[in-house]
Amino acid sequence: MDIDPKNDSRQPCLLIVEDSKTAFNTIKKCLGDEFLLIEARDGEEGWRLLQENPYIELVVSDINLPKMSGHQILVNIRKSKDVRLQKLPVIMMTAADDNTDKNLAFLNGANDYVSKPIDEIELQARVRVHYKLARTIRELEESRIFLSEQATTDPLTGLKNRRAFFEAGKEHLSRCIRYKTDLSIILLDIDHFKKVNDTYGHQSGDDILLGFSDLLTRMTRLGDTVARIGGEEFTILLPDTNRLGTAVMAERIRIKIEEMEFITSGQFVKITTSIGISAYQSETVDTIDELLQIADKRLYLAKDTGRNRICVNDEGKSDFIS
Ligand code: GH3
Ligand code: MG
Ligand code: MG
Ligand code: MG
Repeated sequence: MDIDPKNDSRQPCLLIVEDSKTAFNTIKKCLGDEFLLIEARDGEEGWRLLQENPYIELVVSDINLPKMSGHQILVNIRKSKDVRLQKLPVIMMTAADDNTDKNLAFLNGANDYVSKPIDEIELQARVRVHYKLARTIRELEESRIFLSEQATTDPLTGLKNRRAFFEAGKEHLSRCIRYKTDLSIILLDIDHFKKVNDTYGHQSGDDILLGFSDLLTRMTRLGDTVARIGGEEFTILLPDTNRLGTAVMAERIRIKIEEMEFITSGQFVKITTSIGISAYQSETVDTIDELLQIADKRLYLAKDTGRNRICVNDEGKSDFIS
């Protein structure tokens, strides 16, 4: 038969591993209208097609096959590193009339079993059930991932939101406390942002928030967590970075923001940002909330002492040199 590897027909795709032409014709008769059937005539071909074709959604396999047995195919599927294969529904078939093959198939992870000669109604019913079940499980998993991403993502910037920041922070901090490693926070608040909105409009304000978040993402490392935790308030969580490294990084960001021209509605807009930092190991804290509170106190010191500056300690200093 012709195989359409991309399955443009949108019919769900099944792999039938069966060396008997008669048995295959029976299967085709009861499943061929509903499913796109891919045929393999021996075990090795079946296993190869499974690895090559990501569109296969269910396998019906004979046990007694040339080159590789159905049991071996099943073992390969369940031991595969490919999660798609591990979860693939597999229905086994054999003519043997004792329970040995059936029991072994279930022990190896078969989802179901059909005896030969094939009862067409039974095979059709079992295939439909397992196909629907696998599809429902996949859809639930996809929607779970989608919802959890939505719940942790800021819709405007695509950055992590406040909740995700605290989740990541909690996880990082407990590891850092256990292994006595560094974890720092940079807390940024855009200066006089209300004025930006009042002057250029709310839409332009949004454009600038987007540009601001892009810049933070570009200036940080892969392991850092950049989050928007308030309207014009952002945090960066930096694992394995001490307070000196964090201060250097914060000052670099502050300067970059000061120099940058944000473009919105054909206009160039300049902004500045005030920054507070805090660093675990230099500060003794038990929770991420405490670490953020320290950075918050320093952010407001930076605001009180003129804005467009970083503040690295409770005395309002902006570096560790003087
Ligand atoms: P300060 O230097 O003291 O931080 O002054 P500020 O004006 O930035 O601070 P304030 O807290 O008074 O105002 C924050 C402003 O941020 C007010 C609000 O309109 C704006 N803002 C908050 N979220 C958004 C948003 O999603 N989009 C836009 N365009 N503006 C926002
Ligand atoms: Mg056979
Ligand atoms: Mg603010
Ligand atoms: Mg502000």
